[in-house]
Amino acid sequence: MTQPPPDRLDPWVEVDPHALGFNVGQIRKLDGGRPILAVVKNNAYGLDLAVTAGLLEPRPEIEGFAVVRTDEAFRLRDAGVRKPILLMARVSERSAADLVARGITLAVYADDDPRRLAPIARRHGPIPVHAYVDTGMSRMGIPYHRALPFLRELAASNAFRIDGTFMTFTEEPDFDPEQLRRFQELVAEAQGAGVGIGRLHAASSNGVFHLPEAHLDLVRPGIALYGAYPSRPEEERAKAELRPAFRLQARVVRVEQLRPGDTVSYGRHYVATKPVWVATLPVGHADGYPRRAVDGAKVLIGAGLYPVIGAVSASHSIVEIGDQPLVRIGDVATLLGPDHPAVHPNAVADAAGVSVYDLLMHLGPMLPRIVVGL
Ligand SMILES: *Cc1c(COP(=O)(O)O)cnc(C)c1O
Repeated sequence: MTQPPPDRLDPWVEVDPHALGFNVGQIRKLDGGRPILAVVKNNAYGLDLAVTAGLLEPRPEIEGFAVVRTDEAFRLRDAGVRKPILLMARVSERSAADLVARGITLAVYADDDPRRLAPIARRHGPIPVHAYVDTGMSRMGIPYHRALPFLRELAASNAFRIDGTFMTFTEEPDFDPEQLRRFQELVAEAQGAGVGIGRLHAASSNGVFHLPEAHLDLVRPGIALYGAYPSRPEEERAKAELRPAFRLQARVVRVEQLRPGDTVSYGRHYVATKPVWVATLPVGHADGYPRRAVDGAKVLIGAGLYPVIGAVSASHSIVEIGDQPLVRIGDVATLLGPDHPAVHPNAVADAAGVSVYDLLMHLGPMLPRIVVGL
């Protein structure tokens, strides 16, 4: 599909390949031409894993993909993705054999990884891995202060081929430099000891914008690819413009005029004080639109911006149109997208007091993803 059919009254998500390509170019400008390992975890941040990977893969800047779930890695291969895929997770021995057979690169970090994964190499040859180092997140990875013997053991084994070594920042501006220092010190020690640890990567979108010294050999952005700013939108916009690569859209299904005293939705938080037109959109928090959109988010219908009022329920949101019925049943409403600063995902996230990551990643999986303008 390239356009939602005119009689579609259920909401949908548009995916814009040109915006994706534009964002790749912007990241490329910031990262000094380094290859990009595109993070497409969590259903490509809500845009759809197969659709997004299919659009990104042909671009020469994209070296490969990174995911966090075994299922995502398989789904990428099932969708025909040929470029490298890094799975940043602990995997069972059984999955590991299948993953390696399908050419997926594993992240290793646990003390038992060399022992439990080595047997797979007997059937498949050396296992391509990236070593995951914990420099202060305490989430995944081998703690940096005892990573050297681990790297040495991996490098000495014929069962593994270390293609890369990586870390994740806490994105706490005062601590990030210390994390990078820990990583660089480990890298220097490994290199000094003749331990080959492959190419180095650390920068997510935040690092792409704010930590040029951490761009290393590859960058590993997620959210910036999809056109949202990771941390400090004002500052980041001044460094590089990003374009939201998706739209959350629906059609107006009801337009009515309220009388003074009429109230809107569950809890009756909105009370009309004078005659006012309101419109209903069949999209709600079950589709990923935040409940707290009522705290100040606006919806674009035609050229008009209208505030969300009352309550966002599971499948409906209501907007205040004003003293004239300026919208009609069937008009397309954009709740998130590039078309006006007020519906930019960062602006809506701000207005609703949620993380822009939540906004993207919670886009309802049942909504069809419609690629436009191909
Ligand atoms: C999610 C993730 C990324 C990408 O983060 P963004 O902030 O979306 O750019 C990079 N690395 C790891 C390990 C991640 O989990």
